[in-house]
Amino acid sequence: MFRVNEDYLKLPGSYLFSTIGKKVAAYTAANPDKKIIRLGIGDVTQPLCPAVIKALHNAVDEMADASTFKGYSPDLGYDFLRNTIAQKDYKDRGCDIAADEIFVSDGAKSDSGNIQEIFSKDTKVAVCDPVYPVYVDTNVMAGRTGVYDSETGLWSNVIYMPCTAENDFSPELPKEVPDLIYLCYPNNPTGASITKDALQRWVDYANKNGSVIVYDAAYEAYISEDNVPHSIYECEGARTCAIEIRSFSKNAGFTGTRLGFTVVPKDIKTAEGVTLHQLWARRHGTKFNGAPYIVQKAGEAVYSAEGRAETQQQIAYYMNNAKCIYEGLKSAGYSVYGGVNAPYIWLKTPDKMTSWEFFDFLLETANVVGTPGSGFGPSGEGYFRLTAFGSYENTVEAIDRIKKL
Ligand SMILES: *Cc1c(COP(=O)(O)O)cnc(C)c1O
Repeated sequence: MFRVNEDYLKLPGSYLFSTIGKKVAAYTAANPDKKIIRLGIGDVTQPLCPAVIKALHNAVDEMADASTFKGYSPDLGYDFLRNTIAQKDYKDRGCDIAADEIFVSDGAKSDSGNIQEIFSKDTKVAVCDPVYPVYVDTNVMAGRTGVYDSETGLWSNVIYMPCTAENDFSPELPKEVPDLIYLCYPNNPTGASITKDALQRWVDYANKNGSVIVYDAAYEAYISEDNVPHSIYECEGARTCAIEIRSFSKNAGFTGTRLGFTVVPKDIKTAEGVTLHQLWARRHGTKFNGAPYIVQKAGEAVYSAEGRAETQQQIAYYMNNAKCIYEGLKSAGYSVYGGVNAPYIWLKTPDKMTSWEFFDFLLETANVVGTPGSGFGPSGEGYFRLTAFGSYENTVEAIDRIKKL
């Protein structure tokens, strides 16, 4: 009889967003006349911009013609896209990254989940708490996390770096040295960002200790402040310790179109001289058959002058929602964080309510759906996430309702 991978069975049950879905469905069934406003989603709502649509149409037409038809994509990505990324995301920002260090993929979720495969099984992992759940769960699946404590919600073999209002949502450098450090800035769920000086301290720490940083920059395009780096390679020495993951999902509305990339510099080496670049290339070539040509052409269009202007407009729309949420809640007396360099607003629940108590309260009294902070980790308890991805009209209405409570 077959047996399953026992490590998968260690994953704790009920997924955060399915619990939320069930609660909202039950409330809607009992109160069919109420208009629910959802500010819990981490998904974009604006359609793809015209420059991207045009590139998609053109690429589809190429596929219809025998002389321009494309079969399998190169598994590491088309040169036209890798060269564009190297120039516009890196060289133009003064970062020393070459096109052949960029691995095009179907998105940041898979890359941030898969990257752990190239590290040894006894790799010690550090994550922020609260955390984007993919980083921890994929290490659980790989049997790297030890024992789960259902009381605390912590794995025995993972180093958690609490991020709360007390440390301005910016974790201390861990005393116990991890091999692999996951950082996500601008942050989902807290909406926090990191200054270049603070990120430089992480890079120095990693280089000094022989750690690798996996830097998830899925929200890079939302950065509005000057002292916030768009890439970890703006820091000196990052080429020897940092992998960067990017996505077109939040930057250009590709959540359903699927495109991302991972940067693995050739200078990250083991003591024996093995490069992570060679292993990731091997892994990519074996398990991935390339992002679709049509989608890579669409991705290239994001970097055109029109694509830039149009996607910046979409981001400005979301960030206007973020401002509306931030200022509305602040004026209503809430302690509010984030929302400046990220489309997420993180708030302290009032009256010492737990995250789930506040979820129920908000659903029942304001008919607004958000995400309980405790769903992202124990240090998220007492916090709550609202997102700026709704429509402006719904966002304004939701905040008006909350103000009236
Ligand atoms: C949304 C999100 C991603 C997922 O990006 P895809 O490219 O759509 O897979 C990755 N990391 C973080 C932190 C996210 O919030």
